[in-house]
Amino acid sequence: MKPIGKVLCAAGLLAGLLAFFWREPFNPESLVGARVLLTGASAGIGEQMAYHYARFGAEMVLTARREAVLQKVMEKCLTLGAKKVFLIPADMSSPSEPQKVVQFAVQKLGGLDYLVLNHIGANRFQMWAGDVEFTRWLMQVNFFSYVALATAALPTLEKNNGSLVVVSSVAGKIATPFTTSYSATKFALDGFFSSLRHELIMQGKNVSVTLCILGLVDTDTAMESVRGKVHLTASPAPEAALAIILGGATRLQEVFYPWWLQQVFYLWVLAPSNQVLQSYYNYSSP
Ligand code: NDP
Repeated sequence: MKPIGKVLCAAGLLAGLLAFFWREPFNPESLVGARVLLTGASAGIGEQMAYHYARFGAEMVLTARREAVLQKVMEKCLTLGAKKVFLIPADMSSPSEPQKVVQFAVQKLGGLDYLVLNHIGANRFQMWAGDVEFTRWLMQVNFFSYVALATAALPTLEKNNGSLVVVSSVAGKIATPFTTSYSATKFALDGFFSSLRHELIMQGKNVSVTLCILGLVDTDTAMESVRGKVHLTASPAPEAALAIILGGATRLQEVFYPWWLQQVFYLWVLAPSNQVLQSYYNYSSP
């Protein structure tokens, strides 16, 4: 190769590496007054996200099924610095709710800058027992409602150069035992929203799509479902919530939390080995 070719190759490689490792710095000011619709906001990671957004000075619509619990979260958000907070109880197993929730949020906030999709239907951490109806229901709550919420919100997000933030799981990247239906809903999210990201870019629409891949986080429901079945250290929910918010605000395509999950994922892609995964589990069949 001629010297000029070598120089060009080296420059190309450097540019590629820079593009890969470059991270937009997070500017907390960007969230002051940001208009956020947050689902699954009554508990767990969603509740913690509500508190972080409140501290950053965002305006929010919170949704989940339990109105009384949402009310308490809303009151705390206001004491933490949120400019405006509204709540709307909704059950995402009902196909008519997503449209209603987005309309409410747009009307109350005058538009949206962030749609944060975080809710999940009750998970069963157990071997597949043939319950097809449960899987259909979970698909509705964990996947179809996300698609419907995003579809209803896209016009306002496009207008405001906004962001779609989708909370997923390592079980939506790497298949693990005891998570058949849950894993299916999370893989579906990756397929749909990663494809949508390409289409938005192709159409020159400035809406970012951030997929958040989380490991075990110490929420009450997660701890309850894995108790006595796996021996993994759970990460703190407030930290997971912050990682999601920063990823969305800096318009990353994917956020891995904890960070080392990304390395695990790349290793798994290079050499998928079920034995590696199974060594983490200590499960005795009932
Ligand atoms: P939680 O179970 O703690 O919270 C779930 C939230 O969703 C609650 O606010 C709940 O409120 C709401 N919700 C449940 N069912 C419905 C429904 N039918 N319609 C509307 N809202 C509903 O979950 P986590 O905080 O643990 O998980 C949050 C996200 O993080 C999920 O997407 C999950 O897959 C992901 N994740 C979590 C991990 C973990 O270890 N915790 C690991 C990997 C990913 P209400 O009951 O009031 O409706």
